[in-house]
Amino acid sequence: MTRSADVVVIGGGIVGAACTYYLARAGVDVHLVERQFIASGTSRACDSLTLLWDKSPGPELILGRASTALWAGLVEELDEPFEYHRRGTVLLAEDEAGLEAGRQTAAAMQAQGIRAEPLAQADLLKLEPALSPDLAGGVFFPDDAQIDARRAALALVAAARRQGATVHQGAAVTGIRRRGEEIAGVTTQAGDFATHRVVCAAGVWSNSLARLVNLDLPIRPRKGHILVTARAPGFIHHPLLEGGYVSTVQTAAEGVQVALVAEQTPAGTILLGSSREFAGFDRSVSLTVVQAIARRALRFLPGLAQVPAIRSYAGLRPWSPDHLPLIGPVEAVPGFYLATGHEGSGISLAPVTGRLIADWIVNPNRVMPAAAAVRPDRFELRPRTDKPTNH
Ligand SMILES: Cc1cc2nc3c(=O)[nH]c(=O)nc-3n(C[C@H](O)[C@H](O)[C@H](O)COP(=O)(O)OP(=O)(O)OC[C@H]3O[C@@H](n4cnc5c(N)ncnc54)[C@H](O)[C@@H]3O)c2cc1C
Repeated sequence: MTRSADVVVIGGGIVGAACTYYLARAGVDVHLVERQFIASGTSRACDSLTLLWDKSPGPELILGRASTALWAGLVEELDEPFEYHRRGTVLLAEDEAGLEAGRQTAAAMQAQGIRAEPLAQADLLKLEPALSPDLAGGVFFPDDAQIDARRAALALVAAARRQGATVHQGAAVTGIRRRGEEIAGVTTQAGDFATHRVVCAAGVWSNSLARLVNLDLPIRPRKGHILVTARAPGFIHHPLLEGGYVSTVQTAAEGVQVALVAEQTPAGTILLGSSREFAGFDRSVSLTVVQAIARRALRFLPGLAQVPAIRSYAGLRPWSPDHLPLIGPVEAVPGFYLATGHEGSGISLAPVTGRLIADWIVNPNRVMPAAAAVRPDRFELRPRTDKPTNH
C-alpha cells in the first residue's frame, strides 16, 4: 500500500520527535517513520542537560537560547511530563587557573544577557557540600535545565499525534525514490509513502539515509559512556560539570576524553559521565572507560566511594566537524532536509531544530537569521558516484 504524506520525518529520536511536533502544529500532514521504537537510538543513552554556557556567543548561543525558551514553553504545551527541572548547572574549577577560565566564561555569558554567578570556594561548598573541599570555586548558571530525553521524545510524539501526525514504528527506511532530482517517495519495511519532502533526523545513522540520495554527510558517531549509581537522594543538588568539559567537546582527538559530568535523576540515581571517543558504531561498554569516569567522579565527589554503581551504558553522539548541527534544506536534492549532527547538544537544541524545519517547509521567510550558520550546504555535500553502503 502506498500512503501519501506532505512530509516524511525519518528517525524517532528527540530531534525527529521535535520536527514532527512542530510540523504537525503548523498543520502539515506529517508521517514519522522510525525503524525500531521512539527514542530507541542515542536519545535513550545520554545525559539530560540543556546547557547555554557551552555554546559559543553568536548563532550557536542564539539557537541555544531560543531552544531553552521553547523547552520552558513545552512544559505547558505538552500534556505529558518529561522531568523538566530548571535547577541550573555548576561549572567546577579545580585550581586558580580553572577559576579564572570559569570567570571568563561567566563574563562572556553575562555580556550576552545570560545569568552567571561566580562562586568562591566557600560558596561552592555551601551549594554542594559533597564536593571535595580543595576545589578552587565555580560558576552557577541558573538558566540551565534537566530533561529526560526519552520521555520528552514520547511527549512530543504524543502531542504531534493529537495534532494529526501519524507515527510508524518498526518502519526502517530502505529507499528514497526520486523523480529527476526531486524527492518522490520513501520505501520502508512497513510500506511506501508518496511524498515530495523528507526530513532526515536519523542521528548517527543519517549518513546511511543520505546515501540513498547519493549524498555524503560529514557526520561521525562519537561514543559516550555513562555510569549510573544506586539511589542516593540529595547527594548533589545541581548538575555539576568540570571546567575542562568544553575542551573535550571541541577537540578533534580520536582517543578517549573524560570530563566530569554528574547529575542526579528524580529517582535519586546519579548519572556520571562523560566520555568522548571515535569508535565507529560500537556501542559496547568499556570497563576501562567506565573506570576512568569513576576516578574522575571521585576526584570531585569523594563521598561517591560509599555509593554503589549499578549499571553503565554507551551512546553515539552525531558529531559534525564544526561542532554545529546540520539543519535545513539540501540544495542538491530538492525536498530533502537534514536535522542531524547535534553531537552533545541534541536535547538542548531539539525544539529549535523542530521549529526551524517547520519554518523551512511551511514559511521559509520566517527562518531566523542565525539558522544560516547551521545550513547543511556550508559543507560540500557532493553527490556520491560510488556504490552506496549501509551501516
Ligand atoms: C553519553 C551521552 C550524553 C549526552 N548528554 C547530552 C546532554 O546532556 N544534553 C544534550 O543536549 N545532548 C546530550 N547528548 C547528545 C544527545 O543525546 C544527542 O544529540 C541526541 O540524542 C540525538 O538525537 P537524534 O534524534 O538526532 O538521534 P537518535 O536519538 O539516535 O535518533 C535517531 C533515530 O533514527 C532511527 N533510525 C536510524 N536509521 C533509520 C532508518 N533507516 N529508518 C528509520 N529510522 C531510522 C534510529 O532508530 C533512532 O531512533 C548526549 C549523548 C551521549 C551519548
